[in-house]
Amino acid sequence: MAPSGSRSIKKGCQRVLYWIPVLFIALIVAWSYYAYVFQLCIESIEGIAEKVIYLLVYHVIFIMFVWAYWQTIFTRPMNPLKEFHLSYSDKELLEREDRGESQQEILRRIAKDLPICTRTNSGAIRFCDRCQLLKPDRCHHCSVCDKCILKMDHHCPWVNNCVGFANYKFFMLFLAYSLLYCLFITATDLQYFIKFWLAGGRAHFRLREYRNGLPDTQAKFHILFLFFSASTFSVSLASLLTYHCWLVCKNRSTLEAVRSPVFRHGTDKNGFSLGLSKNFCQVFGDEVKYWPIPIFSGLGDGCSFPACLVNLDVEQAASPTGSTPVNKIAADGRQFPSKPLRESQSRLLTSTPSWTESDIATDKDRKGASNQAMTIEHEA
Ligand SMILES: [Zn+2]
Ligand SMILES: [Zn+2]
Repeated sequence: MAPSGSRSIKKGCQRVLYWIPVLFIALIVAWSYYAYVFQLCIESIEGIAEKVIYLLVYHVIFIMFVWAYWQTIFTRPMNPLKEFHLSYSDKELLEREDRGESQQEILRRIAKDLPICTRTNSGAIRFCDRCQLLKPDRCHHCSVCDKCILKMDHHCPWVNNCVGFANYKFFMLFLAYSLLYCLFITATDLQYFIKFWLAGGRAHFRLREYRNGLPDTQAKFHILFLFFSASTFSVSLASLLTYHCWLVCKNRSTLEAVRSPVFRHGTDKNGFSLGLSKNFCQVFGDEVKYWPIPIFSGLGDGCSFPACLVNLDVEQAASPTGSTPVNKIAADGRQFPSKPLRESQSRLLTSTPSWTESDIATDKDRKGASNQAMTIEHEA
């Protein structure tokens, strides 16, 4: 009992420690709110119109930024569907086999009924020992969360959460709004920063004379530090956002950018790409009004991806999974996104100029998307 007790205490302590970076960000944001609203706008700006406009715009950006941050932190990452988990009998069967090749044989038989296209580097079925499941495409086991995460991008300590299929859009919006937040503060704070800076510099030499330019109070410290911190954060956020925009355009996760996914036909770094606009829609959805709002609007179910599905052979695509259209339930009982695989993925698959569709017109039923022998022409 003792070792497991101390292990759970250690885990509990770890869980608390993981919140420190989030707390750090929350404190900086809270201070920036106080410094901008009270010290800059209310204390230092004299023009009423300027004050009101700054406060209005600031609060709109602030609310969107906090909302996106909240969603990134508290949206639980999605785990593979029940059908990817080993059944009790399969588990027993796998345990009985001690040779790797015969275990692979069992896994290959199970994988036949699942929409899985990716393999390990050695060409084996991707299996998670820890979760006892066949990993869906783009799914990886996170050692911090100790779970398999659908379309895992990375584990982010600043949000104490895994960034993956469920919250990647929120993460992107969090980056975009925090950059906007920092740029807005930098731009509007600039003239007051210069005034205080000059007043401070001259005051150093002729102390009393220049103190009257602006109230030489604690506001000065807040305004100077606000400018420094907002401009510094802007630079790092801009580079991170640019990188993730590039990833979205290429339909790659951070993990896939580091190591290209391996398919049955070999390694292909563009294996999931559907072309620029469809790659974007896969993350942000196809309704423009939802793009800037931190609510889930992405397409697909996170377990299978259209670029892959169309390459499945007929035998595999005609599986029970391939034709299950709605109400997917995760292993922990949670319902999957409102847009089921077939509806959203068929929208991704149709109406694209970059596809060569042979006989899609005759195939009206939903399971068709995965059964079609279509050729994908990846946009360069
Ligand atoms: Zn796992
Ligand atoms: Zn994680």
